[in-house]
Amino acid sequence: MVNAQKVKDMVARKSSQIVNSVSGNKMQPHKHCRVCFQPIPLSADPRVCKDQECIDKNAQDEKNQRTVRTLMFVFFGLFALPYLISLAMRVL
Ligand SMILES: [Zn+2]
Repeated sequence: MVNAQKVKDMVARKSSQIVNSVSGNKMQPHKHCRVCFQPIPLSADPRVCKDQECIDKNAQDEKNQRTVRTLMFVFFGLFALPYLISLAMRVL
């Protein structure tokens, strides 16, 4: 036979566990690793976990970003230079 009180107890315990885990996660401020999205402490800098693979990937990404930024400045310079020169010629 099923013990109704026991079932009620179990349900109450389960739901309180769920509430606790949800509110616990919500209350704790944290960041996520930008490579594997694991929770990491707020103070983590750069924003990666302690996994060497993530550290390497992040360093590679930052290098790529720097290269892209440099190229963008070069292209911008290439387009801006003729305009600036013509502007300077008009002033002179
Ligand atoms: Zn990671």
